Amino acid sequence: MPQSADHVLDHAPLFREPEYKEMLANKKKLFECGVPDAQVAEQGEYTKSWEYREKNLAREALVVNPAKACQPLGAVFAAAGFEKTMSFVHGSQGCVAYYRSHLSRHFKEPCSAVSSSMTEDAAVFGGLNNMVDGLANTYSLYAPKMIAVSTTCMAEVIGDDLHSFIQTAKDKGSVPQEFDVPFAHTPAFVGSHVDGYDNAVKGILEHFWKDAVRTEGSKINIIPGFDGFCVGNNRELKRLLDLMGVDYTILGDASDQFDTPSDGEFRMFDGGTKLDDVKAALDAKGTISLQHWNTRKTLEFAKEKGQETASFHYPLGIRATDELLMKISALSGKVIPEAIRLERGRLIDAMADSQSWLHGKKYAIYGDPDFVQAMARFVMETGGEPIHCLATNGTKHWEEEMRAMLDASPFGKEAKVWAGKDLWHLRSLLFTEPVDMLIGNSYGKYLERDTGTPLLRLTFPVFDRHHHHRFPLMGYQGGLRVLTALLDKVFDKLDDDTIIPGETDYSFDLTR
Ligand code: SF4
Repeated sequence: MPQSADHVLDHAPLFREPEYKEMLANKKKLFECGVPDAQVAEQGEYTKSWEYREKNLAREALVVNPAKACQPLGAVFAAAGFEKTMSFVHGSQGCVAYYRSHLSRHFKEPCSAVSSSMTEDAAVFGGLNNMVDGLANTYSLYAPKMIAVSTTCMAEVIGDDLHSFIQTAKDKGSVPQEFDVPFAHTPAFVGSHVDGYDNAVKGILEHFWKDAVRTEGSKINIIPGFDGFCVGNNRELKRLLDLMGVDYTILGDASDQFDTPSDGEFRMFDGGTKLDDVKAALDAKGTISLQHWNTRKTLEFAKEKGQETASFHYPLGIRATDELLMKISALSGKVIPEAIRLERGRLIDAMADSQSWLHGKKYAIYGDPDFVQAMARFVMETGGEPIHCLATNGTKHWEEEMRAMLDASPFGKEAKVWAGKDLWHLRSLLFTEPVDMLIGNSYGKYLERDTGTPLLRLTFPVFDRHHHHRFPLMGYQGGLRVLTALLDKVFDKLDDDTIIPGETDYSFDLTR
């Protein structure tokens, strides 16, 4: 055998050893009923054609690799932003294992969430007993301060009523009557994780605000939206707000929960918005959302309660950050200090230093609607051209807003906006209308391999690279980081293309 206790091989080299190669070849020959390699190659070539692209784009009844997750995942993420809050997902256990593993693989942190573990009997008779037992167990085993309930497909298909189930569980003594159990129905067969986030945050605010009377104060609420880069982004946001001297509440801050230190103590709960602050946030002067498409229902609710509202699209780079800071300044009456003005100037300087390398570069961008909007806007600020802008969970309204934004810039004229399309569609787009760079998440690595388009991992989930989420993307500092990432990709590619001595190395330059 190629490995022993003294010679342990990682799986990457292990399966290249002759024994494994032979085993895998036999498996293919004997059990996979494969078609000849030439036929596979021929079909592979056909999938790169315009003809196949048209058929692929006309596809209606099948989704292949959607760039989105289901609603409850967004609800679990949202709950992680509140003080000592345990996510309780009413439904099947496997779904919740998926949310936990998805979040933990991205953040490289444990993620706690419980399930009511509905099985066949609950599917037939309803999951009330699961709710009653589940809330009691969660309360006594994990001692949370709040339990935030959401649902999987299963509970939604049979129509379980969370409001009455939770009340019944309280009446049966699962948790004290006054214990906070906000809830949100999060049907996974419609919308995506961003809608689940929206429903969950709205559910939490409704729980605390619904019957309370508002007295307007001067604080500002900020809702970050579903954000895999919350660790870096929320801290950057707080730094900017502190520099401005703004009195604020971040409604849902998961930055500490997903970045606990290794100091010998396991923290099931860490950080998060204090529940007293959530209650008091009703009195805020206004609520600002950093991700419009993530928070439509929540903002509507804040507006109904009498607050001024405003929303942005994952503000990063120059103009988007300007707009955010000016809005915060107007709402809070605080001026933007010189220190931030200097940061802005430094980002502009960096962009000017490098503009010749990025001017005219073509991009494909995919992810959540706000992220795609933000990245398209930023690459245009660098002189780049977004060619394919794709959001599987994008709506008609998103498409229209994107179109208006792209049409307002000479760099956006060639762009096409693809709402509701998936990554298999994007594969066809990349083969037929190639670009210089692909911006997305780890799932893009298959597109990178197939089409040879360099991939930048800048949005959730990032499973196959570590710690990127610890650095901000938002604000001027975030813009600097994105700028650097774009440039690194350009230079790495250029080095690769010019690395053969005597053949391509005329431009293998030390100074770029
Ligand atoms: S789509 Fe439905 S079944 Fe699948 S993980 Fe989400 S809730 Fe569970």
